[in-house]
Amino acid sequence: MSNGLPMSDKSCVDEGCMDEQLDKHLDEHLILDEHLIDEGYIKYRCEWLEEDAIAAESVAQITPYRDALHHLNFIGEYPNGIGFGNISQRLTHIPVQSSSFSAYPLGFIITGTQTGHLPTLKPADYALVSDFDPAQNRLTCQGLRKASSESLTHGVIYATHPAIGAIIHVHHPQLWQQILYRVPTTEASIPYGTPEMAAETQRLFRDRSLLQSKIFAMAGHEDGVFTFGDSLQTAYRILINWARMTGIMTEPASSVALQLPYQLASCQ
Ligand SMILES: [Zn+2]
Repeated sequence: MSNGLPMSDKSCVDEGCMDEQLDKHLDEHLILDEHLIDEGYIKYRCEWLEEDAIAAESVAQITPYRDALHHLNFIGEYPNGIGFGNISQRLTHIPVQSSSFSAYPLGFIITGTQTGHLPTLKPADYALVSDFDPAQNRLTCQGLRKASSESLTHGVIYATHPAIGAIIHVHHPQLWQQILYRVPTTEASIPYGTPEMAAETQRLFRDRSLLQSKIFAMAGHEDGVFTFGDSLQTAYRILINWARMTGIMTEPASSVALQLPYQLASCQ
């Protein structure tokens, strides 16, 4: 099933670390490079500990939701080959070692870069973000793939409240246009993927009832919508409910979608 919408042709997301400046090898497994996102001008530093694939049990819950979102075209790939959309789940047993950003565990599993086109993901397609620092635009990830280029935003959201256990980021032009400024919305003037955007996301949590609505749009990141919740199911339900309320998804289709992950996942 597809939402049948024309895809924007832009290069903003999830192209991953582009190895533009592979300038420093801390050891043979740790690579520090530059991450280009959002039109290729904004960078963040990605310390990639290329290790074994993420354990299968760590992605057992997230994969049915991710694959359902791909099935619904909330996660996918633009015609120019750039992937969009990502999903993450907090791992409460993974403490962040060096970040002073928060007192509670901030490690999370997130879909890897350049996975948007894949109908279903394997454990090797995920990364574990074990540390991050929005002020420095820096993160540390482990796994066979580098973490999504949008991982810092996920980290900022996890750091906002300990009860947030899962985050979904989708690109959908119609949904984005429908909810822009109707739900908490980041300022259009703030470039995506910058420390300013991290601060802007935190502002939404302070100034608006975002913890209740659990959805926000990014005016400066076209088509970009985030939902979150205490669980994957909550974050997913918020998204589907808004898709239904805005007419993006029909009532029967949303009812089917809300039976996910099991039904749609079994159809693929
Ligand atoms: Zn995005």
